Amino acid sequence: MRYVSTRGQAPVLDFEGVLLAGLAADGGLYVPESWPQLSAADWRAMRGLSYAEIAFRVVKPFVGGCIPDADLQRMINEAYATFGHRAVVPLRQTGANDWVLELFHGPTLAFKDVALQLLGRLFDWALARSGKRATIVGATSGDTGSAAIEGCRGRANLDIFIMFPQGRVSEVQRRQMTTVADANVHAIALDGTFDDAQAMVKALFNDAAFRERAGLTAVNSINWARVMAQIVYYVTASLSLGGPDRTPAFCVPTGNFGDIFAGYAAAKMGLPVAKLIVATNRNDILARFFAGGEYRKDGVTPTISPSMDIQVASNFERLLFDMHGRDGAQIRGLMTELDTAGGFTVSPNALAETKHLFAAGRADEAATKAMLKTAFAQGNGIAVDPHTAVGLAVAAQQRSSRAVPAEIPLVTLATADPAKFPDAVEAATGQHPALPPRLADLFDRPERQTKLPNDYTVVRDFIENQRVTA
Ligand SMILES: *Cc1c(COP(=O)(O)O)cnc(C)c1O
Repeated sequence: MRYVSTRGQAPVLDFEGVLLAGLAADGGLYVPESWPQLSAADWRAMRGLSYAEIAFRVVKPFVGGCIPDADLQRMINEAYATFGHRAVVPLRQTGANDWVLELFHGPTLAFKDVALQLLGRLFDWALARSGKRATIVGATSGDTGSAAIEGCRGRANLDIFIMFPQGRVSEVQRRQMTTVADANVHAIALDGTFDDAQAMVKALFNDAAFRERAGLTAVNSINWARVMAQIVYYVTASLSLGGPDRTPAFCVPTGNFGDIFAGYAAAKMGLPVAKLIVATNRNDILARFFAGGEYRKDGVTPTISPSMDIQVASNFERLLFDMHGRDGAQIRGLMTELDTAGGFTVSPNALAETKHLFAAGRADEAATKAMLKTAFAQGNGIAVDPHTAVGLAVAAQQRSSRAVPAEIPLVTLATADPAKFPDAVEAATGQHPALPPRLADLFDRPERQTKLPNDYTVVRDFIENQRVTA
């Protein structure tokens, strides 16, 4: 499999290349040159297989011979053995033809584990093969940092430095980053905001000499391998519900458009999908886009579903690319307009291209809180997290408008364990959600973090001195 950039001016790479590159050299995102096609018989042949066996079959065409089968299957097995449920991503029925797909049984209790448990292993494998070391740096407002740390802890060929804004992440989120004892893990509490942390990461990457010396790399959501790993649960959910002979719709709590783009990839591979529903909170740039074709920045308002508080959705560029006939020049134009004019409008033809598959809706704070309460009552005391509540609220809108008719199974993706957002859940339900047993002692574990000022030289020197050199 070969990968091309959405902006059409970066080298064509194989899987190993895009894995290690992350962002393309022209500022674009890598996508497969063509979508692998699986037939109804191929999907049917996966019925009854384990999650790890299905993952191997789905992922293999994208890896395209870069990794020997035995190594690939071993890494997949190890990645999903870290999950606390035998089904890895179980479906729970919540209504006559409604389900939630629980993606949060991984080590850090959010769906990002599905991709990052595999990504850490793929990285380590690729580095070992080329005899290189890498230094991963990232900024986090919460969920991504801990999932990246868990995916990379103890790996032989990489160091990971995660910066979070000191005092501005929840206690559970902070402890998930600071209680990991492995020597290659470094949690940095930066004296600043999330934007400062992100600007710091950017500055480190822009320092060409340092980037080269440290083998700097990123695991943020634009890495193709993350999207690839997420395709798998659309397949397992569909098969559990009778696919490919029955066609479900999926409602996805959306921030950077990575999770739902994986659903799009599944559909492009031939998996029957009735609808992909983009669910946003009041930061609704994507819901506005699907309503009228205009993509326009509008500031960010903090919500109780913080992982969806975005100004622009980084992975959306991948869909724009397909909407514009895979013409990199048009995407370069649109992205320039986004930077200089704050937004753009696509042609009616391009919008029509997405309308048969995508729908969108938003849930404001009041609707989210109401759904936290309703879901708890209807689930007989099983709570959902605020991100999932946004998804369920939009799913309910789609049902009541009959945009998704009753005979279509509707699967809402549950992206985090309610115990990750205890305050919002308790405020709505009156019940404090407990951490699962394997994390029950999180508040007793010793913390290890380094507090650093928002000063470029200090941060760079810290990374330089702490990383293990080859
Ligand atoms: C990251 C995240 C999302 C948003 O996912 P995207 O792939 O960015 O659209 C939703 N919910 C939770 C809990 C998350 O951590």
